[in-house]
Amino acid sequence: MTAARSLTTVAEFFEAGLVAEEKRAEARAVAERYTVAITPSLAALIDRDDPLDPIARQFVPDAAELVTLPEERADPIGDLAHSPVEGIVHRYPDRVLLKAVHVCPVYCRFCFRREMVGPEGLGTLSPAALDAAIAYIAERPEIWEVILTGGDPLVLSPRRLTAIMERLATIPHVKIVRFHTRVPAVDPARVDAALVAALKASGKTTYVALHANHPREFTTEARAAIARIVDAGLVMISQTVLLKGVNDDAGVLAELMRTFVENRIKPYYLHHPDLAPGTSHFRLTLAEGRALVESLRGHVSGLCQPTYILDIPGGHGKVRADSRAVEEADDGCFRVRDFRGETHLYPPEDGGA
Ligand code: SF4
Repeated sequence: MTAARSLTTVAEFFEAGLVAEEKRAEARAVAERYTVAITPSLAALIDRDDPLDPIARQFVPDAAELVTLPEERADPIGDLAHSPVEGIVHRYPDRVLLKAVHVCPVYCRFCFRREMVGPEGLGTLSPAALDAAIAYIAERPEIWEVILTGGDPLVLSPRRLTAIMERLATIPHVKIVRFHTRVPAVDPARVDAALVAALKASGKTTYVALHANHPREFTTEARAAIARIVDAGLVMISQTVLLKGVNDDAGVLAELMRTFVENRIKPYYLHHPDLAPGTSHFRLTLAEGRALVESLRGHVSGLCQPTYILDIPGGHGKVRADSRAVEEADDGCFRVRDFRGETHLYPPEDGGA
């Protein structure tokens, strides 16, 4: 099965009826700054008559992206400060990110790595850089889990994925390999038997975290792609970004979490939106996010409860946004305690550093 080609220019978005004539110039200005792409299967889902369509909002460029606030930053979760070798982010003792590729089948308008992903971004790791990244993992017995992210690792060919997994299989202390991907929902035809087989490594347990933000992303084809992964014995978990105008509604959020569970995906992360540049139109306050998450508790099965996460700006790691580690201070600010016990203000005071 061959996946159809993504729409990657404003002209293609316009021809597909996703950008109106009067918005073309501003969409072009956005596309000059940030990469745009949408897969045909997602484009087909969008209701052209609904100006508030939650799928369009995630993928169609918007003039609001041209506004960057002082507190927004190119590297909102501080990947670069924790990157000892190219392609590796080592923030926590027992796990690393392995970023083998920086392209995606779609470009989410709220992406927290929007300055790094895309054809103009950091590209694909060279063979020498991949060797160095694998060597870094092999030399550190404390690394229990390798998380393939990017970019979207499932855009790699089965041959390249197999090559990476075979090398991870030779490292005894790595027990878990986790993929973070949007592919099963945004480009389900890509998830064929060869790709699913390539996600397995001898002696390792594979987890696949599906990033989806709205129940409508679960098309018949997407559900079938997810089933192919789960039926192959891989464990699936979810990842969602809480987004204004997409899923900041108790009913939508509950339906999304139930849809994950119905498709044999355990809800895992619900991310508070990061301080990525040009994304303020997506951001809720922490107080609003906490109230929404609270609305799930008790009303929706325990199986459907995600962990609400704030990635502390500056690379200080994740914290449960509805826990006692996050306390309301003054003027809508929060005091946030990281996993090392250090305290930070959110939103941060130091502008876009
Ligand atoms: S798929 Fe992930 S990395 Fe790619 S644009 Fe979307 S959020 Fe960013």
